[in-house]
Amino acid sequence: MSDNPLLAQDANVLNRQIEQLLADPAHQSNPLRLPLAKLFDIEQVHLAQLDRLIKISDGYQLFSRRRQMTLEEQYDRQLRRLEKLARISDHYQSSLRHLSESLKDASLHDPLTGLGNRRFLMDRLMQETDRASRHSTPYVLGILDVDHFKSINDRFGHDEGDKALCAIARAIESALREYDVCGRWGGEEFLILLPQTSMDCALTVAHRVLKSIKQVDLHHAGTGVSASLGLAIYSTNERYGETLNRADAALLQAKSSGRDMVMVA
Ligand code: GH3
Ligand code: MG
Ligand code: MG
Repeated sequence: MSDNPLLAQDANVLNRQIEQLLADPAHQSNPLRLPLAKLFDIEQVHLAQLDRLIKISDGYQLFSRRRQMTLEEQYDRQLRRLEKLARISDHYQSSLRHLSESLKDASLHDPLTGLGNRRFLMDRLMQETDRASRHSTPYVLGILDVDHFKSINDRFGHDEGDKALCAIARAIESALREYDVCGRWGGEEFLILLPQTSMDCALTVAHRVLKSIKQVDLHHAGTGVSASLGLAIYSTNERYGETLNRADAALLQAKSSGRDMVMVA
């Protein structure tokens, strides 16, 4: 009942003494016997109540300890769930990032040749025009069209025509300098952008490109292919559309002058 063993011992001894006194016939007529007996009964009731309270308190403490443990477990579980969710969210976000990068890449590239597409070229053209007008360092623009490409399709089939376009794309790339830009403008036409380049220098690159295209061996049948190229240099304060038009006009001139040549607007 008491946590102190000495006190508990004293109480037991006292209890026994009182019981003996009350039971002793010699004290039956003692006027103190009745009040003592009542006090003893009340004490026994109090002790029983105290005992019950202690049991209830012990039980409550055990219950709250258990409850606390389960709360900790619940917290841990919740934390693990949150960590898992964070991992899933990270993974999801990086997949989304990859997807959007692939989409962006696909939206700027020609799937057949792997070169930049018209949209990519327009972006680069705007950037280069901006730079050229700010620093007065002109670029040279070239539009290249494969000669008699229709007859290549007709002779070898459309699939071989596709392969020829890829081979021509590689041939152009290999003849350009590291910082030059080349893309598929559409069909069998390619755009070449030579940043910070004089027309003299551009002509050297242009002839190298046409020579490289002539080395493409179509259908492995010893059949060659040629292209015509129109060049125009950007004039300060001109809109890039005007430079493009001049390059296109030079290309038409090359076609009408017999093809397989470079013309300057
Ligand atoms: P020119 O010398 O006057 O340019 O003659 P060309 O035959 O090259 O010009 P034309 O405009 O008459 O024909 C272009 C051909 O290019 C027709 C078209 O079917 C072909 N072509 C365009 N895009 C592709 C493609 O992606 N794959 C294949 N195989 N052929 C294509
Ligand atoms: Mg064409
Ligand atoms: Mg053509």
